[in-house]
Amino acid sequence: MLLELQDVTLLYGRIQALHGISLNVGEGEIVALIGANGAGKSTTMRAISGLRPVAQGSIKFDGEDITKLRADLRVVRGVSQSPEGRGIFPGMTVRENLEMGAYTRRNRAEINQDLDRAFSLFPRLKEREKQVGGTMSGGEQQMLAVGRALMSRPKLLLLDEPSMGLAPMLIQQIFDIIVEINQQGTTVLLVEQNAQQALSRAHRAYVLETGRIVKTGTGAELLTDPSVKDAYLGVA
Ligand code: ATP
Repeated sequence: MLLELQDVTLLYGRIQALHGISLNVGEGEIVALIGANGAGKSTTMRAISGLRPVAQGSIKFDGEDITKLRADLRVVRGVSQSPEGRGIFPGMTVRENLEMGAYTRRNRAEINQDLDRAFSLFPRLKEREKQVGGTMSGGEQQMLAVGRALMSRPKLLLLDEPSMGLAPMLIQQIFDIIVEINQQGTTVLLVEQNAQQALSRAHRAYVLETGRIVKTGTGAELLTDPSVKDAYLGVA
């Protein structure tokens, strides 16, 4: 397994947001995490990227225990997160934003290759290379956030709500691109409100409820699971 969480609990002060999460992601997979608002999806991502410390349990990545490793060192190991709500640098140009994603790296030739790759995945970013990030549309900023996360050449790409706020046509497009990124060799862990899209694109998925995993299976299994349909897919 590339990523293994075992019995992870996480607290925000006295609020316990995660109650013993165990999940794993194999190399080459797209794994989705679905659940209602407040279920703990983003918190699980923060535990993995190291943005919040875990109270108990362990996180293993690529054979190494990273439970207590600093967030920036996790990026160096190959974990990269595209945060919820885009979180790009609004005053920097598209190109500068992408360059920031490569801040842990020194090899200029490789960085240029990856810039080309980001521009070929997202032609719109190439067209807007010199535009200031904060003046881009919501969908463009979302693409920029994903492109920037890719610039660290991650083994594992963490995507928190990549389809949030996007028009239906762009939602299809961003999921197509996620599948393409995966087919080019990057493992993906995806948090999504859009359970329909996430489950139809993911190899496997976990369902989170109030900080606990209540169900897991292949994307196809969960798409046809009556309780998942009822709660998350808007059809009984
Ligand atoms: P959403 O889809 O609404 O973002 P989520 O599944 O990602 O939901 P989290 O954001 O992980 O949920 O939140 C899980 C729980 O932790 C919620 O009850 C939330 O109120 C709480 N929480 C999240 N961030 C903080 C924080 N910084 N301080 C205190 N409580 C927090």
